[in-house]
Amino acid sequence: MQVQDQAIVGIHYTLKNDAGETLDSSDGGDPLQFLQGAGGIIKGLETALDGKEVGDKLDVVIEPEEGYGVHREELVQEVPRSAFAGVDDIQVGMTFQAQTDNGPVPIQVAGVSDETVTVDGNHPLAGERLHFAVSIEEVREATQQEIDHGHAH
Ligand code: ZN
Repeated sequence: MQVQDQAIVGIHYTLKNDAGETLDSSDGGDPLQFLQGAGGIIKGLETALDGKEVGDKLDVVIEPEEGYGVHREELVQEVPRSAFAGVDDIQVGMTFQAQTDNGPVPIQVAGVSDETVTVDGNHPLAGERLHFAVSIEEVREATQQEIDHGHAH
């Protein structure tokens, strides 16, 4: 069976950035399982996997637009330290949940001064070109329940 919409796909993968550093990998664990066509993985990877079969190995380079998005400067904001009342030691790299009209959004501390904290609401991999090495371990038809839920069981 080929990878197609409404198939459950299992892959092993290694993700590197442009500098060749490994950002993420399924090595040593179970394959990553997802329902193809349901947006469970980034769009560029779904597109590259379409039509492939168990045993296929592929190297995929994905531009930010098809990955975690471009880095949007308007998502970087300086807020008063008082917004972090109750947090004693604010450091660059810490992550928080910001409450927004669209629900909680993860933000990362990008800078700290005496008066302000610079927060970045971009995905940590926004703006990165992604290099995936993928091997396809499993392709099967999804159950009706998996299709209804939009994810693999
Ligand atoms: Zn479910």
